[in-house]
Amino acid sequence: MMKKSIAIIGAGPAGLMAAEVLSQSGIKIDIYDAMPSFGRKLLMAGKSGLNLTHSEPYEIFLSRFGNRKQEIAEHIKLFTPDDLIAWAKTLNVETFVGTSGRVFPKEMKASPLLRAWLKRLQADGVIFHVRHRWQGWEDGHLIFDTPNGIKKIKPDATILALGGASWPKLGSSGDWVPWFLQHGVKVNSFQPANCGFTVNWSTFFIEKFHGSPIKSVILTFKDFKQQGEFVVTRTGVEGSLIYTASAKLRDEIASKGNAVISLDLVPQLSKEKLIKALSRPRNSRTLTNHIKVTTGIHGIKMGLLYEFISKEDLNNIEKLADAMKSLCIKLCAPNSIVTAISSAGGVSFEELDRHLMLLKMPGVFCAGEMLDWEAPTGGYLLTACFAMGRTAGNGARDWVLK
Ligand SMILES: Cc1cc2nc3c(=O)[nH]c(=O)nc-3n(C[C@H](O)[C@H](O)[C@H](O)COP(=O)(O)OP(=O)(O)OC[C@H]3O[C@@H](n4cnc5c(N)ncnc54)[C@H](O)[C@@H]3O)c2cc1C
Repeated sequence: MMKKSIAIIGAGPAGLMAAEVLSQSGIKIDIYDAMPSFGRKLLMAGKSGLNLTHSEPYEIFLSRFGNRKQEIAEHIKLFTPDDLIAWAKTLNVETFVGTSGRVFPKEMKASPLLRAWLKRLQADGVIFHVRHRWQGWEDGHLIFDTPNGIKKIKPDATILALGGASWPKLGSSGDWVPWFLQHGVKVNSFQPANCGFTVNWSTFFIEKFHGSPIKSVILTFKDFKQQGEFVVTRTGVEGSLIYTASAKLRDEIASKGNAVISLDLVPQLSKEKLIKALSRPRNSRTLTNHIKVTTGIHGIKMGLLYEFISKEDLNNIEKLADAMKSLCIKLCAPNSIVTAISSAGGVSFEELDRHLMLLKMPGVFCAGEMLDWEAPTGGYLLTACFAMGRTAGNGARDWVLK
């Protein structure tokens, strides 16, 4: 009898994990990627330390997936953050928990993990195909554009793990959307997630402060309230605190045209304490020096006050204290998806069964960031992609062996 075959398209965390659960299954496993090498986005994630997962309590971890918590939980319960840490160990990758609770490989990069993983997959019989750009379906066949021309294959099942639409130069560009739409599969439009935003800074402010971090502030926006830090860029703001709030900010801008965040520049001092401090005799001190000496505000935080507060209000102690506790900054637009860490949008969960198989295309499974869910940075993206890759792999195996 001919050996059954499964094609996996997309060799990122989700596709590679699908290959892993299928290796040694007795099924012929081919994994294809458009790029000249596998796992390019995973390697890029490694440049900032490779935050694999998070050590916070399981229920809180799941809450990070917002309105898709239930769907994602189905997969993560079968491959939990602890399972992920144990799995990394099987690749000789030891992890540690950072001060924020985030989990990283001790080496703070992705290349040792990826190298060991690819080696193991090949040893287990998975067949690799680079420079194979999938071009959709034709008469039930998968069509690939390859350096040797067009290739057509007809596997017994297909797993698509094509990624989202951020950082397209790393391989995931969302170019597959039209082929899904042709088959009546609903794909929600891609939007930037974990992204920066534009702010109309004055030329003076940008020249003085671009690239500078704003540390230990509390950002409030509607029901979002969190302490952290972010960076001022030439065009606006980016960094962890902004990324965490970015889904809400992006949605507000889409509906209202802009989003106004409020910053507490001095979380350690109440408004009353600030007023008391600022009321001390100024003597011959300049206003800037008086603010610095009495409240500790200086540098970029002082720059923000001068950027957004009128001269009159700066000289009004009550209004100045108000501004220090809730400085309003208007964000005008999300940055391009090309620079976003991840994307929202993609194949709708309503199109999939619990094994991540497309209801309208039996035998075709989807996993990873190409599905319509989002999560903040903190290791949630990778954990969910790995977990979904496993579900799709197990589902495809059961499908071909049924
Ligand atoms: C700068 C940066 C830092 C990040 N840091 C972290 C982090 O620390 N922690 C975290 O959890 N997440 C992080 N992420 C997000 C994380 O890397 C992604 O969510 C994850 O890689 C998505 O996995 P995936 O397998 O779904 O897709 P991808 O990793 O995007 O892989 C999809 C693959 O499909 C291939 N492909 C696409 N279209 C085709 C086609 N038509 N034909 C053939 N192949 C195709 C692509 O070439 C690609 O290799 C980061 C992302 C970026 C950009």
